[in-house]
Amino acid sequence: MTTRRKFFVGNWKMNKTPQEASAFCEDFVAALGTNANCDVGLAANQILLPPLVSRFRGIQWFAQSSHWAESGAFTGETSVGMLRAIGVSGSLVAHSERRQMFGETNATAGMRVAALLNAGQQAILCVGESLEQRDSGEWNEVLKSQLAEAFDATGIKNWGASLGADPARPNLTIAYEPVWAIGTGRAASAQQAQEAHALIRGWLSDKLGADLGQRLRIQYGGSVNLKNVRELMEMPDIDGALVGGASLVAKDFAELVRLGSSG
Ligand code: PEP
Repeated sequence: MTTRRKFFVGNWKMNKTPQEASAFCEDFVAALGTNANCDVGLAANQILLPPLVSRFRGIQWFAQSSHWAESGAFTGETSVGMLRAIGVSGSLVAHSERRQMFGETNATAGMRVAALLNAGQQAILCVGESLEQRDSGEWNEVLKSQLAEAFDATGIKNWGASLGADPARPNLTIAYEPVWAIGTGRAASAQQAQEAHALIRGWLSDKLGADLGQRLRIQYGGSVNLKNVRELMEMPDIDGALVGGASLVAKDFAELVRLGSSG
């Protein structure tokens, strides 16, 4: 069986001033120590990124969204080239808040993924069902269609080449984030999350072949905290976490990473 390296990313959303972000990182790096067991990233607002990227190199830095075009009349957007020029590792794509509030679709998600992968950057593609879709039992069809439409919209044919040269760190990560669990304090149970991750891995294996399907990392996101992280990370198809609220306090996020990666 493939052993996948665990991958934890904190999503700060629209939080922290530059001063707060810098103080967080000093505390976070000290609290984390040298944890060689896993990969750790933070997704920060663009305005915060330049000084953080050059000062805290042990952390992988992510934008929270990036555009598919190289440049042009896209007011308010950030290109992959701009992010790459300052040393950012990649971007979140289609977080549910962007789907709900800013008109993100599976098609635009796929275009953003393609721009990132084609530039050798990492994409963390977020998928997940609403509470209504969970309760009506259609969550599995929803996940499959989110993936299928986004993958089709990338236009990518040779996925092996698009995922980068490091087999332990493919440039595409899927984040399973059930919308009903994000910021609600109501995480999916470890069994619910594992069932969804297994479905996603099955879909990836059918689409990309068993080897890539086994290699791609699938993060769980939605009310991960110090109490539930261990149980979630023990599940065979859960390869890390995308963490919102619990990533805002440095010592807590460092402890969450430590607990989640020591299994
Ligand atoms: C998120 O925003 O991606 C998220 C998972 O948030 P939270 O951990 O606060 O539920």
